[in-house]
Order: sequence, then structure tokens, then C-alpha cells
Amino acid sequence: MDTTLNTRQVIIIGSGPAGYTAALYASRAGLNPLVIEGHEPGGQLTTTTDVENFPGFPEGVMGPDLMAHMKKQTLRFGTEYLAAKVTDIDLSKRPFKLTCDNGHEFLAETVIISTGASAKYLGLKNEMELIGKGVSACATCDGFFYRNKIVHVVGGGDTALEEANFLTRFASIVYLVHRKDHFRASKPMQDRTFKNPKIQVIWNTEVKEILFDETGVTSLRVHNNKTNEETFRPTDGFFLGIGHEPNTKFLKGQITVDDHGYIKTEGTHPDTNIPGVFACGDVQDPYYRQAISAAGSGCQAAIRAERFLEAEHDKTNL
Ligand code: NDP
Repeated sequence: MDTTLNTRQVIIIGSGPAGYTAALYASRAGLNPLVIEGHEPGGQLTTTTDVENFPGFPEGVMGPDLMAHMKKQTLRFGTEYLAAKVTDIDLSKRPFKLTCDNGHEFLAETVIISTGASAKYLGLKNEMELIGKGVSACATCDGFFYRNKIVHVVGGGDTALEEANFLTRFASIVYLVHRKDHFRASKPMQDRTFKNPKIQVIWNTEVKEILFDETGVTSLRVHNNKTNEETFRPTDGFFLGIGHEPNTKFLKGQITVDDHGYIKTEGTHPDTNIPGVFACGDVQDPYYRQAISAAGSGCQAAIRAERFLEAEHDKTNL
């Protein structure tokens, strides 16, 4: 790959359905895009198993396979990839300057941001080390491993309640632990949860510690913030459902974001407040957060970048 400081027409930051689709459209439009794909290419779908809701796969498709196919399709049209993370970006003037963690620097006429969002964790001791050993932030990915087992889910929003309901397909019982005495999840989701005989809600309760042995998670130490009582709750699995954090830290406040840090896009377009910078996928979508909607927005971002470049070209040739 040419890493001299030439100006590229399109740089896509982040892989996943949004980034790959943007790359497909940009490369087919002859824009020779570079995707700076991070160190875990493919995004959240690479940690899932069966994807049954992506159109075109009547029998379903494995998440990692879907991502590998998407990437392969972009390579056919000349997309280039760099396994690196963007650590610094200067969006104050065009061409935009990007600096990666491997020291490479790039200039770009347009930038498409598709860095996704990551699940939030509680920040408890050993929480991260126990991922895959009883701790998970993805019921869809890991629920299967808890057949006839006891699981606890933490959170009171749509994510937690959706995870709890999904987990009842496998687990013998699902305890939903919430720090308040009411949920903020949508009414239909709450109705579904209260009607599910396999879900038991533990109100006003905070998880303080995850206990484990060589087999993985064994119990949770919890604190009731109304009674001040502290108890130990045996469990096989502990699922986080406390929301997601958009991956926008590297932008260092240069783009307008909403109260939760999601990039704000304009109306139905993927345009950000900076001309020439577009955002697609979960980094700008706290609502749908689906592979297919991310892919759709990736297509839109590439088309907007292409039209932006055409308009700039027309201006300079007046
Ligand atoms: P939310 O921000 O809506 O909810 C997060 C939940 O986690 C809250 O109940 C919050 O508690 C709790 N929480 C946060 N931090 C902690 C902590 N440190 N300790 C304990 N509890 C904590 O996030 P969601 O991911 O649930 O939803 C995000 C958006 O996505 C929403 O708009 C939602 O409607 C949407 N969504 C829609 C779905 C659907 O329609 N199928 C599915 C999933 C999400 P508290 O209430 O006390 O603040």
C-alpha cells in the first residue's frame, strides 16, 4: 500500500456492515477507498453466531462469514485495507489529516466514519477477564451456552429487557437486576418482560462483585440500595445490558454529537456538521442498531461522499 502522504479521495474509518458497504459503493464508483479497519475487523457481528435477519440468506448466516463475504466483495473492486486504529484526526481543514497508531499518516478529501459502538461494562474487578467465562454483553452471541442454567442480566432499558427475554429460550431462570424500582424500557418491552414466567425482577439492586472459580462465574455480590442489605446470588452467567457507547473518542470533540456521544447526522442524510465528513452505522444510530440498517447507511454515506467530490470538482473547474 502507498503510505506516502498523497491525498486520498475517500478514507473509511472502521469496518463492520456500514464500513464494508460504504467501501463497496465507493470502490465501484472508482474512488479507490482506503478502509482503516481497526484491530478487530468486522465489528460486532464477528462475535455473533447465527444471523437470521440479514436478507438474502434463507437459512441464516454466521456473523463472521457475513463479514468475511462483505469484505471479499469490496476487494473485488479495489478497496484497500489497513489494520490500524486512527488515534488522531484533524477535521479543521480539507484535506483532512489522519494519524494511525502504527504511525502512518493520511490525507483525505472525504472521510466516512463507521466506528460503531461498544457495549458498556460496570467496571467491576475481574469483569473483563471473565468475558467468555460467564460474563457477556451479548445475549445473542452467548445465550446458547446457558441452556438450563441460571443467569443474571443487569440494566433497565430496552437492551437489558430484550436480552433477558432472549435468554429465557435457554436458561432455566433469568434474574433481571435493576438499580431502580422502575424500568426505562419501552412499554411493550416491559409488558413482554412482566408476562414472561422465566424472568424474575430484582429491584433497587446493584451488582458489587463477581465471584468465580476455575470453572468461571459462580455468584454475584449484590447490594439493595433501599434496605442496605448485601446478599450473594448464585449464577452461571452474568449479562450486561446497560447500553452502548459510540466509538467517537478519537474525534476529540471535533464533530457534533448528541447527549450520548452518537454523531449527529442531518435529516435523512449521513452528513455530519463538517462538509466532507459522513457517518454511518451504529456510531450515529442509537435506535435501530441492526446490520441491515448499518449497511444501508454505509451505502448512503458513500453516495454522499461521491456527490460531494463531484460538486467540489465542478467548483474547481468553473
Ligand atoms: P439505555 O441507556 O436506554 O438503558 C441503560 C440501562 O442500564 C438503564 O436502565 C440504566 O439504569 C442502566 N445502567 C446504566 N449504567 C448502569 C450502571 N453503571 N449500573 C447499573 N445500571 C446501569 O440503553 P439501552 O441500550 O437499553 O437502549 C439504548 C437505546 O436503544 C434506547 O433508545 C432503546 O430504546 C434502544 N433499543 C431498542 C431496542 C428495541 O427496540 N428492540 C433494543 C435495544 C435498545 P437507569 O434506568 O437507572 O438509568
